[in-house]
Amino acid sequence: MALTTATAIINLSALKHNLAQIKSLAPTAKVLAVLKANAYGHGLERIAHALFSEQAKINEHGHSSTTADAIAVARIDEALALRSSGITQPIVLLEGFFNAKDLAILAVNNLQTVIHNHQQLDALLTATLPSPLKVWLKIDTGMHRLGINPEEFSSFYQQLTDSVNVQKNIVLMSHLGCADDKSNQATRQQISLFEKVTLGCNEERTLANSAGICAWPASHYQWLRPGLLLYGVSPLPFESSTANLFTCASENALQNTDVMLNVQPVMTLKSSLIAVRQLAAGESVGYGNAWTSKQKTIIGVVAIGYGDGYPRHAKNGTPVLVNGRRVPLVGRVSMDMITVDLGMNAQEQVGDVVTLWGEQLSVAEIAQCATTIPYELLCNITRRVQITLSAL
Ligand SMILES: *Cc1c(COP(=O)(O)O)cnc(C)c1O
Repeated sequence: MALTTATAIINLSALKHNLAQIKSLAPTAKVLAVLKANAYGHGLERIAHALFSEQAKINEHGHSSTTADAIAVARIDEALALRSSGITQPIVLLEGFFNAKDLAILAVNNLQTVIHNHQQLDALLTATLPSPLKVWLKIDTGMHRLGINPEEFSSFYQQLTDSVNVQKNIVLMSHLGCADDKSNQATRQQISLFEKVTLGCNEERTLANSAGICAWPASHYQWLRPGLLLYGVSPLPFESSTANLFTCASENALQNTDVMLNVQPVMTLKSSLIAVRQLAAGESVGYGNAWTSKQKTIIGVVAIGYGDGYPRHAKNGTPVLVNGRRVPLVGRVSMDMITVDLGMNAQEQVGDVVTLWGEQLSVAEIAQCATTIPYELLCNITRRVQITLSAL
């Protein structure tokens, strides 16, 4: 007997494929790959090394491998972990530094910083640094989370340009709040405000997250900032017919043609059946007897639970693949187990393979069943989940 426990299978050739797909949408733009939160649960160092690997392998979809231009993380610890693991390429801190003392660490480790408020500006201007820092100046264009106000832009830009602590070529950035909604005019307003504020500045600009990359070609500029899309998940609202294949607006507005983007999930979360049992009509399963069978049936117990990052709020009926067959989750999600209704004619056995999401089953669909978003499910994968690399 050798049963598989909760395992996340990471497919690095899917990652390279997704990067190539992203680049095909905006061939002249550079890619700032977003690897915060342990590369959305996929393993920070592993994903970083794969994104920069020049190995020209051809994957099953015929794309030769391409590389990212820089990596973005949210915390200095994430950036330092990347440097320790041998990543020498550019790394950007998306929220900048949290502590003036960190500025020297940034300089020594060649980390680039976002500047989004007065406190950071003052700390940077007054620091004594061994070398100047590369700065990404963040402007709030309507999301009202991070960024300087549009009317502060000239003053910030001038002071940064004049400072000996700042390298030439500041990148101007902002972030979209509603890009996943193609009908929301807020994105158009953000793009036009970004245009207006940065007008006449001869600098690189960046605005697009995954949803901007897919749905708003006018937001592409010189740097794309994909997160979710790199990991093979659509940032647009989930539709069962279009889980991995979806329409994107073309960069060439004159042609007005949509492009089909086909991304492949990088993570497939698997486990196995550790028990299979008969249930009579009227019998219940799991904590709180939250689900009761209407008829005689066979229940499968799967070795995965919220202790692995499977969402506790996944509702009855959430799809689970057992040997590739779609069956419904029933009863409450426990810490280490879930239960599925295999039906009264089930042939499945203890040890059979179960897929929770990934290939054949989009994490976006599971997120919808758990009233959350795929981002949260991916970053919630816990330490006890085994990681294996899929054969290329
Ligand atoms: C997280 C993040 C991104 C990536 O967002 P996705 O929706 O995952 O593509 C891009 N830019 C900033 C500033 C972010 O914080």
